[in-house]
Amino acid sequence: MIIELKKTVTPQQADALAQKYKSVLFENGKQVLVTSSKLKQADDDLKEVAERIVITDSDIQLAGKQYISHKRTITIAENLSIGGNTNYTIVITGPCSVESEEQIDAAAQLCVELGVKVLRAGAYKPRTSPYTFQGLGLDGLKLLDKMRAKYGLKIITEVRDSTHADEVIEYADIIQIGAKSMYDHGILRKCGKTNKPVLLKRGFGTTLQEFVQAAEFILSGGNPNVMLCERGIRTFETKTRFTLDLCGVAWLKESTNLPVILDPSHAIGYAYGVPDLARACVAMGVDGLLIESHPNPKVAKSDAEQQLNFDEFRKLHVSLAQVAAAVGYKLV
Ligand code: PEP
Ligand code: MN
Repeated sequence: MIIELKKTVTPQQADALAQKYKSVLFENGKQVLVTSSKLKQADDDLKEVAERIVITDSDIQLAGKQYISHKRTITIAENLSIGGNTNYTIVITGPCSVESEEQIDAAAQLCVELGVKVLRAGAYKPRTSPYTFQGLGLDGLKLLDKMRAKYGLKIITEVRDSTHADEVIEYADIIQIGAKSMYDHGILRKCGKTNKPVLLKRGFGTTLQEFVQAAEFILSGGNPNVMLCERGIRTFETKTRFTLDLCGVAWLKESTNLPVILDPSHAIGYAYGVPDLARACVAMGVDGLLIESHPNPKVAKSDAEQQLNFDEFRKLHVSLAQVAAAVGYKLV
């Protein structure tokens, strides 16, 4: 149950109710209590202080359509929002990892050339093997910061674990939480305490319910700016790296109030399939698309097989704009 409290309720009163009902209390313009969804009836003490009470079916509460019936709008930049009724499909691209100034500068220039506003690259990489490139860490964040200043781009980069969460939150315009990190409560809770947009990726063995419940940790920390990213789940199939769950995307669009971003690159894992898959994603009418691109994928230090070279990306970008227009969206 979600209880939005009247303005006259003091923080002390709210705290006492939070304890009594074993609920989460957060503040974002107003004080909000969220109890377990098992609570189906409000007692008089709650009714007295409530401006609004929403009974919910499951612990998908703040992210659910019962609470907010329309899709949330998330402000990325002064002149750029996604979600709501903007009908924008935002393009996010860049290499898997920041590798050098030369490499990330080339990636930033590609964004500027195509009018792409959000540059993406990881500095803290959650690799499968400890013996591979782990990312440039803080030096990588500083290079991304330099690109933001030089080209006026917005930066999305991932937080791998909570030891450097504050650092990433400080440097990023959008914080990415990766598929392997989405259960890290240290990260989720820290992201709940900022107002910066968060792109939360679905773990490859995560049900839709668990995925959205991870988003609830951020939302119930007080950060309303959460986007969900489907990036492929593990199935019996081994010919492709993962299986992009487009049925799940339809469900997320139907059942949640959060913008949905799709990542075809990590889903298929091979560059040959990314353009077709990306067009299929855009055809669903989604809020954004994350595609890995690299000036020279052959020598990429992570995810080499799936990154598009710049000419492949340029070509794809033209066709994505056409597909987006066909379904009433604008590629931005
Ligand atoms: C990435 O975005 O480069 C990445 C590691 O993705 P995921 O968390 O989806 O595996
Ligand atoms: Mn990657």
